[in-house]
Amino acid sequence: MLFPTQDSANRKSMDKTKKILLYAAAAIVILAAAGLIFKHQSGQVEKDTPAKYIFVMIGDGMGATQVAAVESYLSYQAGKLGGEQLTFTKFPVLGLCTTFSADRNITDSSASGTAIATGSKTDNGKLGVDPEGNELKSMAYTFKEQGYRIGIMSSVPANHATPASFYGHDMDRGDYYNISLQIPESGFDFIAGSGLLQFNEKNNDQEPIDKVLESKGYDVCFGLDELAASTDEAGVVVVQPSQKNAEALNYEIDRDTEFKEDRLGEVLAAAIDYLGDEKPFFIMCEGGEIDWAAHDNNMMTMTDAILRFDEAVKVAYDFYLEHKDETLIIVTADHETGGITIGSGHSSMIDWAGIEKAYEEAGETSSAENRAISTEHNIGWASYGHTGGPVPIYAIGKGAGKFCGRMDNTDIYAKVVCE
Ligand SMILES: [Zn+2]
Repeated sequence: MLFPTQDSANRKSMDKTKKILLYAAAAIVILAAAGLIFKHQSGQVEKDTPAKYIFVMIGDGMGATQVAAVESYLSYQAGKLGGEQLTFTKFPVLGLCTTFSADRNITDSSASGTAIATGSKTDNGKLGVDPEGNELKSMAYTFKEQGYRIGIMSSVPANHATPASFYGHDMDRGDYYNISLQIPESGFDFIAGSGLLQFNEKNNDQEPIDKVLESKGYDVCFGLDELAASTDEAGVVVVQPSQKNAEALNYEIDRDTEFKEDRLGEVLAAAIDYLGDEKPFFIMCEGGEIDWAAHDNNMMTMTDAILRFDEAVKVAYDFYLEHKDETLIIVTADHETGGITIGSGHSSMIDWAGIEKAYEEAGETSSAENRAISTEHNIGWASYGHTGGPVPIYAIGKGAGKFCGRMDNTDIYAKVVCE
């Protein structure tokens, strides 16, 4: 067409009008979007806030297969192949955490405790400090600054690596006496463990730690009965009744039958009671002897330890049911211990009855004997130490969704404190 007709001229002018309208519409959309963004930015006061009640529960050494093995045992007891569950595996959110430390593929409990507590990696053996020795701030201190009451408890000694990562700072996790001295410095409200290692320092030449803690205003209670009678408001340290006049303690499971042992779930319930629900609280609760039993490749002791840890999770879960919108519970592990496998190549069934029978008949067993009993009945162990695989993290409650998917153990800090 050589000359434009009237028709095509009209069409052109129509096209122009359409274009203008389109640009105008696009501009409106962009401005509206910008408005939304600005509104969102100015609305940062509504930013994620931490839950009022927070439970960080750590099963030391409790990898995904430890959990699966215990659920298999529960299923066996119920006459089934599978399907029985622990409390925390029913939580709606599941993630996976990498656990390597600043200097090792395979972490120890002080480096991983520090990573979880502070959000920073450190070398194995170091506690609450970075590799250069600079102090790191744990989430317990972050929450204390925000007016939370703080409870730190474990089924192993209260100055052992995992609980101590939340209040202590030391280049050597084995400086137990020095670490205990940091309990009163923390100002935390409720500290509990099976006891305190190095009660009188390494050479038994220092003032007993209970006397030091008492002199700093803490009430040291030997058992929950003593706690019930305590009227001290400054803070309490609760250890097992069997620790009275003890210099140190060993395995929680080697309990002195003379004394009633307070179970981890009972200690957690007492802590919740002590802290109260008027003020916000942060609680770290560790099932520490899961790791010790796994080092020993002792299937039945480890199962018992995980079941007792789960009892404590149930206590936290019951609290959550009463305070659903304000509570966050996360359950994780600092690392896996023992390289446990479901199946050792013997068959395609775990012979739980055989394991139970073997332990009924055996007296004291060595680690090698424990491994042999497991292997023979089709549960394998690859190590007497820690392993470097990722560990599961389970979550329920306010902000739980953030724990879905893959993360590093140093990511937990920011997710819990809502940084
Ligand atoms: Zn360990």
